[in-house]
This record gives sequence, C-alpha cells and structure tokens, in this order.
Amino acid sequence: MTVLSGRKAVVTGGSRGIGRAIVERLARDGAQVVFTYAENAGAAAEVEKAVAELGGAAHAVRADLAEPGAAERLMREAEERLGAVDILVNNAALTFAPAGLADTDDELYDRAMAVNAKAVFLTMRHAARHMPDGGRIVNISTLNTVRPAPGTTAYVASKGALEQLTAVAAQELGPRGITVNTVSPGATDTDLLRGTNSEENLAMAAALTPLRRLGQPSDVADVVAFLSGPDARWVTGQNILVTGGLA
Ligand code: NAP
Repeated sequence: MTVLSGRKAVVTGGSRGIGRAIVERLARDGAQVVFTYAENAGAAAEVEKAVAELGGAAHAVRADLAEPGAAERLMREAEERLGAVDILVNNAALTFAPAGLADTDDELYDRAMAVNAKAVFLTMRHAARHMPDGGRIVNISTLNTVRPAPGTTAYVASKGALEQLTAVAAQELGPRGITVNTVSPGATDTDLLRGTNSEENLAMAAALTPLRRLGQPSDVADVVAFLSGPDARWVTGQNILVTGGLA
C-alpha cells in the first residue's frame, strides 16, 4: 500500500517537464494516471515506459486542449479507462516568445485563453459534476501573476483566470471534501523555460533566487503530490509559490 493506492488521476501535459515529473510522482505514490500530450507521442511513450518500469500505471492520451471538445473528451476517456477520477492536475499550458501588450494579436490571446483557462474550466466543471467526495484538484499557474514581467500579457491573463477558477471552486467543492489549490512555479528547468530564455537570463533567475538555483520539475511535482494526498486534507483555496523563495 502506498499513499495514493486506489486513487485515479488525470494530469494534462504529462509528456514533458513539470507534467512528466507529476505523472511519475503520482504513479510512484500508487495512483493510476491518465495523462495528455499534444504532439509529442515519443515523449509520452517514454513516460509510460518509465512509469511501468517503476511498477506503476500511466496511460497517455493525445489531446490538443485548444480544440473545442478536447477537454471533455479527455475526462470521459479517462473515466472509461479508470473509473471515477479522484485527482485532477491541470498542468498543460501554452507559452510564447515574449509579446508585449501592443504586439499581442487576437489569435495569440485566444489560444492562451483556450488552453490555459478554458480547458481548465472544462476539466474542472467535469470534476464538479463527477468527482467523488474527498477528491483533489491542483492547477498549475506561475510566479508571474504575483511578480509581473513585461511580455507576458496573454500568458499571465490566462493564468489569472486559472487562479480565480481555483479560488471559487475551493469554496464550492469544499462541502464535499474536495480540495482545490494552485501551485505556482518559479523558473523551472524545462523545455518551456529554455525555449523562452537565454542562458544569461537563466543564470540571472538562479542568482535572484534565495535558494540559488533553477527549480527542477521534481521540486514542483513533490508539492503537487502532497496536495493530492491525504496529508493536505485541510489545505484548500491556496496559491502555493514553489519558487525557491523568489517572489
Ligand atoms: P513544457 O516543458 O513546455 O511542457 C508542456 C506540456 O504541455 C507538454 O506535455 C506538452 O505536450 C503539453 N501541451 C502543450 N500544449 C498543449 C496543448 N495545446 N494541449 C495539451 N497539452 C499541451 O512546460 P513546463 O515548463 O513543464 O510547464 C508546465 C506548467 O508549469 C505550465 O502550466 C506552465 O505555465 C507552468 N510554469 C512553468 C514554469 C517554468 O519555468 N518551466 C514557470 C512557471 C509556470 P507535448 O509534449 O505533446 O508538446
């Protein structure tokens, strides 16, 4: 028996980076996991294999969460495979090369909102209707909502929406023992971070961080695992900064 034995989890964006670390950690703790990828089938297959080698169970589903209907299809497919879903982690997100307010076109704004906010709303609405009592929802935001940075208009607007969905759902689902929390990473060493920052920026982020390094995906996954487990039963409606002290 491990801490999440018998629990059924959905993790969006589990093929790489922080999502992969979350899938592996929840599976190691005993949960059966369905996770999504958008395009990278090879990376998703690697995650399935790595989890199987640890004796766990994780199944990849292709879902571009920008597509209408994709989030609901994902939740239905997960339930067909696992039964009722107890743990929902909304991790997938679209990020972009920095674009200031003046250069943020309608398409960029709409895509950010579709994946980072509307798909989160849709998976959470499904959970509000079907998640058993005592379930867990964890949504991944960003330090940038409390530490604004130029060039992040669409991204941070969408993450602000995610945080408010979290806060309201915590109020509404609390009577059923379902906790709903946000985890906000700081600079975490993933493809996303390396794709949008120079080496110089990364070194600066580490130097500004009290713990003097970049975050690793497992630093974030361990906090998500805590919030997904029984020890976090009295924690809801929070936004936990997982940033090495950077704030
Ligand atoms: P990442 O390395 O870019 O991985 C993104 C994951 O999301 C991949 O599994 C990707 O699938 C999936 N994905 C991308 N677009 C999608 C779409 N349209 N539909 C469904 N899935 C999609 O990202 P990360 O750095 O691990 O970030 C994970 C979360 O942490 C995000 O919510 C991000 O905003 C947040 N965050 C990250 C940092 C950081 O420094 N890394 C800081 C603050 C917040 P494919 O493999 O198929 O592309």
